[in-house]
Order: sequence, then structure tokens, then C-alpha cells
Amino acid sequence: MLSVFTPGPSQLYPTVYGHVNTALAKNIGSISHRSKAFEEIFRAASESLRILLNIPRTHHIFFISSALEAMERIIENCVEKQSFHYVNGAFSKKWYEYAGQLGKKPEKKEIPFGQGFSFDSERIPKHTELICITHNETSTGVALGLKDIYALKKQYPNIPIAMDIVSSAPYSDIDFHYIDMAFFSVQKGFGMPAGLGVMIVNDGALEKAKSLQSRGISIGGYHGFPVLWKMAEKFQTPETPNVLALYVFGKVCGDFLKKGIGKIRKQTDEKTRMLYDFFDAHEEYKPFIKEKKFRSPTTIEIEVQGKSDEIVKRLSKKGIIVGKGYGDFKDSHIRIANFPAHTKREVKRIIENM
Ligand SMILES: *Cc1c(COP(=O)(O)O)cnc(C)c1O
Repeated sequence: MLSVFTPGPSQLYPTVYGHVNTALAKNIGSISHRSKAFEEIFRAASESLRILLNIPRTHHIFFISSALEAMERIIENCVEKQSFHYVNGAFSKKWYEYAGQLGKKPEKKEIPFGQGFSFDSERIPKHTELICITHNETSTGVALGLKDIYALKKQYPNIPIAMDIVSSAPYSDIDFHYIDMAFFSVQKGFGMPAGLGVMIVNDGALEKAKSLQSRGISIGGYHGFPVLWKMAEKFQTPETPNVLALYVFGKVCGDFLKKGIGKIRKQTDEKTRMLYDFFDAHEEYKPFIKEKKFRSPTTIEIEVQGKSDEIVKRLSKKGIIVGKGYGDFKDSHIRIANFPAHTKREVKRIIENM
């Protein structure tokens, strides 16, 4: 078996294989998405996730196709004219660009890739309707501090915050009282095959979507918040969804709960420490993120002096797949994901083979 440490898709969580087999044996591929059996799958997935991430009842859970879809839906449903984006990598930049492509007038605060935001005495432009933050920039290995983000919310309590948590969930223990919307896809921290996105949306965001709609502003069609909400209340989706993924997702959330999310977080911390300690002491290869408070626990990015190709090949001969850097960092960096599917033993093997 290969050990896959690319940041997404990544290693499958070990129970996924069994759940897929069970799903097929139960004929899940043929059930109607308007049936009781489907509603039960939806309900189980939604409720397990709610417990796992401690999502309050003020927030609704919607299933969509991907994280990039969530970026677009959130802009469509919550912004008439102006969103404000913190940009420090490829994903935060994409989100900003989508807003422009949707005909909005987004603004941004952009800093070089590899740096993070502390949100000290921020000046958010007047008329900002939504603040967009990428919690963990998978493209550079920068994670922002949750306390800093909460402080920003306290400074601007009336502006909703939407947060990309694609590569920080379920590791990060988020207090959703400060976060109005969040989203992720399942092929990273949840260790599943790609093809399912999850969006967490509070009442205020839903109201905003309704108010835009009532004023004749387009909020999109089949995945507008009001219709997603109306269907989710019945444990259904507007479209014929990825039922297989939804089934497996509910089961994986259940497995995380059985293991204990506290334990998963603690094990993640241990693996994070092993990797950064090793590379901090390495003569040649160094963590890319110098400021320790911004070092991602879940995507560890290492500067390797132009040797990423050589390292990726060497490790793959040992059955370990690590990622190259994103975009311009392809040759100069490697990326190592640290998700619940990754065991301490496998992390040790990376270290031994570096
Ligand atoms: C992978 C990733 C995305 C995109 O996810 P898709 O499932 O491809 O839509 C968005 N944001 C971050 C931070 C990511 O790591």
C-alpha cells in the first residue's frame, strides 16, 4: 500500500474502503434521492458533522459539489456589490477572482505568498458586505490564528465572515459564534475520494440571500441558499447528489467521533511537532514558513533547494507520496499533509527517508 501525503486528494481514511463496499452492497447507488432511505443518509451525515465540529443550531449544513463551488455560492448569496478578501496564496486569490467574475466589486488585502495575517487594528473598507478568509492556505502552508480571526469579528461584529476551512477541518476547533460561514471538501482532512463539498451557513447569511433575491438580485439557481435550506430541512438536496459520498461522509464523521476528535487533534499535534522539529534541525531542507505562529499544522511546506523532483522520486520508491510545491514553488518546495488518515508510523518513515 502507498502512503499518500499529498495535500489533496490525500490518503484515504482506512475505514473508507469498508464503507464504500457496504454502500454498494446496500444498493445505495440505485435509491431515489427523494426516498426515506436517502433522507436517513442525509440526516446521519449532517448530524454527525454537527457534533464533530460543534456546529450550533444557528448554522445550517448544505451539501454541494466542491469547495470552489462554495466560494462562488457564498459570493452570489451574500454580496450585492462588495466583498473583502484576505489574499496570501492561490486559493484565497481564486476566491477574490470569482467575486470579480460574478460582477461584484471585490477589494483585497494582499501579502506575499508564505506570509500570514494577524488582523491587528484592521481597516475594512466601508460598504464591505462580507469578509473572506482562507484559514489554511494549502498552496503555501500558512495557517491563520483562530483567536486573531475572532478578534477581527469583535472589531467588525456586523460584517459576516466566511472562512475556507478545506485543509484545516476537522483538525481545527472552530467557535462558530464568530464565523458566519465556512466550507470544505472531503478529499483533504476527511480522507475521502473527491466529489463532495460541505457548506456551513448561519441564519444571517440566509437572510441576506433572501433579501438580495427579494430585490431582484441574482443569487444563482439550484444552489441558492434559500432552496438549499428548504431542501435540507427535509434532509434532501435540490439536485440528484453524490449519494455514495454522502453515505461515506456520514460514516467517516461517525468514525472520527468514535475515535474521539480530541484524540485526533492531539495525534495531529504530535505529527506536526515531529515534522517541524526534524526540518528545523535539517541542514539542507527548512520549513518555508519562518514565523512559527503561521506554520500550518495540517500542510507542512518545506524548502528543499530545488530538489523537490529528486525527493518526490526517492520517497515514492519507498511507497511514500509527498506533494511538490504549488505553482511557482513546484521545484523549490515539497508539501506534506498531516490529516487524520496519516499515522505517526508513516510520518516517521518520511523522516527516516529524508
Ligand atoms: C483544495 C482546496 C480548495 C479547493 O477544493 P475543491 O474540492 O477542489 O473545490 C479550496 N481551498 C483550499 C484551501 C484548498 O486546499
